[in-house]
Amino acid sequence: MSRMLVVGAGIIGLSCARALLADGHQVTVLDRDPPGDKASFGNAGGLGVTEIIPASVPGLAWKVPGWLFDPLGPLSLRAAHLPKLAPWLVRFLRSGTWPEVERISGALATLASRTYEDMLPLLAELELMGDLHQVGSLWVYETREGFEADARFRTMRRSYGLVCEEIDGAAARAMEPALSDVVRYAMFTPQWSHVSDPKRIVDRLRSHLEQRGVPMIAGEVAGIAGNEVATADGRRLPFDRLVIAAGAWSGRLAKLIGDRALIESERGYNTTLPNPGISLSREVIFAERQFVATPLDMGLRIGGAAEFAGLEAPPNYDRSNALAELARRYLPGLSIAGGTRWMGHRPTTPDSLPVIGRSPRRGDILYAFGHSHTGLTFGPTTGKLVAELVAGRTPTVDVAPFGIERFQ
Ligand SMILES: Cc1cc2nc3c(=O)[nH]c(=O)nc-3n(C[C@H](O)[C@H](O)[C@H](O)COP(=O)(O)OP(=O)(O)OC[C@H]3O[C@@H](n4cnc5c(N)ncnc54)[C@H](O)[C@@H]3O)c2cc1C
Repeated sequence: MSRMLVVGAGIIGLSCARALLADGHQVTVLDRDPPGDKASFGNAGGLGVTEIIPASVPGLAWKVPGWLFDPLGPLSLRAAHLPKLAPWLVRFLRSGTWPEVERISGALATLASRTYEDMLPLLAELELMGDLHQVGSLWVYETREGFEADARFRTMRRSYGLVCEEIDGAAARAMEPALSDVVRYAMFTPQWSHVSDPKRIVDRLRSHLEQRGVPMIAGEVAGIAGNEVATADGRRLPFDRLVIAAGAWSGRLAKLIGDRALIESERGYNTTLPNPGISLSREVIFAERQFVATPLDMGLRIGGAAEFAGLEAPPNYDRSNALAELARRYLPGLSIAGGTRWMGHRPTTPDSLPVIGRSPRRGDILYAFGHSHTGLTFGPTTGKLVAELVAGRTPTVDVAPFGIERFQ
């Protein structure tokens, strides 16, 4: 039994803590604000098992200038952040070749294949099985050009057993009557699910662990020396093994021990509408515009956007407003009054693969971060893999593609 210190009380850190506790370790979680807001709270709540295609794909570079030109388009970069972003961006563009896309999709598919096997026991343990809605998702398109452009990705998904049913606009409206006539093509992915409230899962998991004796310590990591973490307010916390699961901030912590991680905050926005005036029965993905709408307990959540502006810049909530406005094009009955706006930091690597594995410098320090758009989906599996690595068991999934070494 080792003293395990896990930094980060988001879905990834807590999933690691749960798996390590199940192995009999003495586990402590450290977070600057354990119950405070984080990416794991306000996300879209999708179990995106078909999300195996990386963000950087051939042809993307041609679309980027148009997106950047639109001040409220799906992608934005803050000029002041560009010098810091440059190495990440170079690596991102280098990842956009077909052989890389095939390799990365294969690695993500191994994680995706575990989703339900690892998520269902967690939800059962938290008594939240009723929060899981296994109703699939609908990807809608306005143009044949957009639908055809994704054909190769549908083929790739199918090669991993992921079902992608091609339907027309009328069939999509039969499934979701709130959709307007602008939808002409669609893809139904029945293996996808969504949850009632992503925050409830994290809150319940945190108190579940606390009830089982896992302390949730409030403190910010300022240094790592020997087998102690120093907090910003001067405390020293000893560990036998340390797990760094600090989301978009993890690169800073890896740097403390000399490891390089290319990780950026891909800032995402949403608006949650308590009285949307329409209803959806499943998550709808507006594929050509890169945003989604999910029916959650607290309302219809409309979210997306990828903003690269670093960890400190204040949110630009015009992005939340813009997404809600754009949604009316597809959902004409939508009422956008009274929405709650939110921004969260997706921890995103340039190759869309998470970082899961040991530090090459220190075998007693493990990394679990960089889950970008799929942290909720891959959280429980990541926890399981970290516990397997700590125990010296053969990991259920080959973790070689997720090593931090790829950034050295
Ligand atoms: C708009 C949006 C929509 C999304 N939709 C989905 C979806 O539908 N499905 C899905 O699977 N994923 C989705 N995601 C992605 C998902 O939310 C993230 O991948 C996931 O929440 C990351 O979890 P995490 O635990 O790594 O990070 P976080 O939840 O951000 O937690 C990191 C924690 O580390 C702590 N921390 C950081 N630095 C320090 C330090 N120095 N000392 C102490 N503590 C520290 C922070 O306080 C924080 O609590 C979405 C994300 C966004 C933004």
